[in-house]
Amino acid sequence: MNDLIPLYEATLSKIETAAKRSGRGADDVTLVAVTKTHGPETVRDAIDAGMTLFGENKVQEAAWKIPMCPTSARWQLIGHLQSNKVKHAVRLFETIHSVDSIKLFDALEAAARQAGTRPEIYLEVNVSGEPSKYGLTPAMLPATIEHILNHSQALTLSGLMTMAPFDLDPEAARPHFVALRNLRDQMEKDFGIDLYHLSMGMSGDFEVAIEEGATDVRIGTALFGARPKITRPTLDADTTSGIL
Ligand SMILES: *Cc1c(COP(=O)(O)O)cnc(C)c1O
Repeated sequence: MNDLIPLYEATLSKIETAAKRSGRGADDVTLVAVTKTHGPETVRDAIDAGMTLFGENKVQEAAWKIPMCPTSARWQLIGHLQSNKVKHAVRLFETIHSVDSIKLFDALEAAARQAGTRPEIYLEVNVSGEPSKYGLTPAMLPATIEHILNHSQALTLSGLMTMAPFDLDPEAARPHFVALRNLRDQMEKDFGIDLYHLSMGMSGDFEVAIEEGATDVRIGTALFGARPKITRPTLDADTTSGIL
């Protein structure tokens, strides 16, 4: 028993209620517990509390952390990925939510073939058009999917991901989640493919995201509290330079 259980149970109950409002069940929504900036001890407590699937936003931090966590943990990359880190990414993560260019796809595909791994990928779309956000523009999506369908062997494209602009009012995120779902429906129709996963919703807006069809919610602070602000010494580049 540990401190994380009440927050985890409260989050699961909100997920289930929101799923019901969208005519679905709790099993239709996957909780990705975001452990960025938290150490392996937090992951161990999270596993004890019942969590199994974890999200990290930096390859370097994950490369340090994952080997110190129980092997039962499953890991997904949710943050921006640079092409020079793909070798590590395809070994560490079962799913990469943040593929945002053809160049990155090509690098990942080559790395996964080399490593003999078969990660799933989602395309990150900047539906809000905020200049500070990563992601393909909706207009770039069809050509990117076309390229992926013609070139993927190791990687499987199975969904779309977005981040809504920060806003204290969760309702402000709703139009962006609707936009991602509509894009997904359009791409499925145009290409005759299955893009089951909609990765959208974070601590502040996951209930709205689920109401609009999210299948994967990426939740950090609602499960673990405020993230440590000061970079832990163990997460410094010096510590991980031996790994990467
Ligand atoms: C940090 C992060 C999250 C989780 O954010 P919270 O507000 O703490 O739930 C979700 N998605 C991405 C891409 C992140 O970087």
